[in-house]
Amino acid sequence: MLYDIVIVGGGPAGLTAAVYALRAGRSVVVVEKNGFGGQIAFSPKVENIPGTIQISGAEFADKLVEQAMNLGADMELEAVTHIEKTESGFTVFTEEGSEFCGKTVILALGVKHRMLGLEGEYELIGNGISFCAVCDGAFYTDQEVAMVGGGNSALQEALLLSEVCSKVTIVQNLADFTGEKKLAEAIAEKDNVEVFFNTVVTSYQTADGALTGLTLKNEQTGEISELKVDGAFLAVGLMPENDAFAQFVPLNNWGYFDCGEDCLTPTPGLFVAGDCRSKRIRQVVTASADGAVAATAACMYLDQNK
Ligand SMILES: Cc1cc2nc3c(=O)[nH]c(=O)nc-3n(C[C@H](O)[C@H](O)[C@H](O)COP(=O)(O)OP(=O)(O)OC[C@H]3O[C@@H](n4cnc5c(N)ncnc54)[C@H](O)[C@@H]3O)c2cc1C
Repeated sequence: MLYDIVIVGGGPAGLTAAVYALRAGRSVVVVEKNGFGGQIAFSPKVENIPGTIQISGAEFADKLVEQAMNLGADMELEAVTHIEKTESGFTVFTEEGSEFCGKTVILALGVKHRMLGLEGEYELIGNGISFCAVCDGAFYTDQEVAMVGGGNSALQEALLLSEVCSKVTIVQNLADFTGEKKLAEAIAEKDNVEVFFNTVVTSYQTADGALTGLTLKNEQTGEISELKVDGAFLAVGLMPENDAFAQFVPLNNWGYFDCGEDCLTPTPGLFVAGDCRSKRIRQVVTASADGAVAATAACMYLDQNK
């Protein structure tokens, strides 16, 4: 089948693009590699979606998926490896061996979690290292964990962990938090949360392939210490996964698609949307806005290239 639009990525940007394109009468397939809904599904509480006082990220993600499916989106759980230009548009290839053909493509790839770059780190994912308190916090009930990072995600996740874990130690490399003041104040009120500022993790301690502790270094004093933990949650930033598409869309110095608010790329028929694009604010509303802009641009392109 030749779709009007193949959307790669099923987060807020991709699913909003699907809703706009489907409502404009276009055929759409959304190809998602992990879980439909994207990053927001990991957020315990979302309080900045217009018209919604509070909602869990997972519930919001479910609603987005339901909306796109109700309108008739095809949804495929596969990992896209690359795309190729064809006479009729593009072929989108997946790790699973599928090929999706589209007259146009919207790349809405989002970003992935940044790692600390320490030895043995990838092997410890799921064996003590985690990125999501909502998903994995319950595994550490009444245990001691570390939260590495000091931004909004780190503080939100640390608050959540403090409800189930006996102790949470926040390890922040800077002299202060970079997250919101309101969250920092909530952290300060928690008796079971300790904070190490100006401190970095220099190595992981393990036993039988599982994390048992962190080696820490205070960058001001040079002091080295060991922190025994049952788990460590990393919230040290996000990075794009755009390299496989760089021949069609230029990347900026940080690996983001170097495209503007119009979501256009130098490749006719190819559009980008959401957190994967160079932009100042990466949030649900801005990702969804991109989805609407990209879908509308794709529809205009289809009208002009019948
Ligand atoms: C813990 C946390 C809390 C947050 N809290 C808030 C909040 O309160 N309010 C707010 O507005 N924002 C919040 N955000 C940010 C918000 O989630 C993102 O800005 C938004 O999800 C971006 O949407 P997106 O669709 O651009 O990208 P994503 O949500 O990252 O979705 C992109 C999707 O593309 C998929 N993908 C990537 N590459 C491929 C490939 N090759 N093949 C197939 N699929 C692929 C990914 O698996 C992913 O599902 C939070 C984020 C996190 C992590």
